[in-house]
Amino acid sequence: MPVKHRIRHSAKPVERRGGLIKGKKPHREQNAHKVLRKWPYYRAMLLWFACLFVLLVSLCVVGYGVHLKQPKIIYVGIAGFGFWLFLKVCYLLACKTTTCPLCRACHLVNGKSSKHMKAYKVFPFSYATTAVFTAALSMCIRCMHCGVTFDLNKKHRE
Ligand SMILES: [Zn+2]
Repeated sequence: MPVKHRIRHSAKPVERRGGLIKGKKPHREQNAHKVLRKWPYYRAMLLWFACLFVLLVSLCVVGYGVHLKQPKIIYVGIAGFGFWLFLKVCYLLACKTTTCPLCRACHLVNGKSSKHMKAYKVFPFSYATTAVFTAALSMCIRCMHCGVTFDLNKKHRE
């Protein structure tokens, strides 16, 4: 009797419930990969949070200036926006250096490529922003293109 080969049902849709969270959360277990260099990730994370901070502060300053009807304060706020743009460019450049050792794509840039089945995403944020959050909160990141988990703090094997 011939062996009946098991066929994987590729027609079956990938389980993607319409929830807020897509994909699988990255983990820091034994089989997590190690990143080549950690510093670009830390730099990108710091720049991302600096961007958010500067944007919020400029918004507050402009709002405050409009409230007091003082153009001077509004100009300070607009200068803050200029600084925000500058930081944003720095962030994008910093992101370009965080490449995946496996698929050579940037970990923190969205792009228009199709995402991996396991790519992790929380609803209001993009894949890249979610990656920044997981990196900041749990020191691990899931490559959105190849779905492999990377541990940012993994020690070299001795
Ligand atoms: Zn990858």
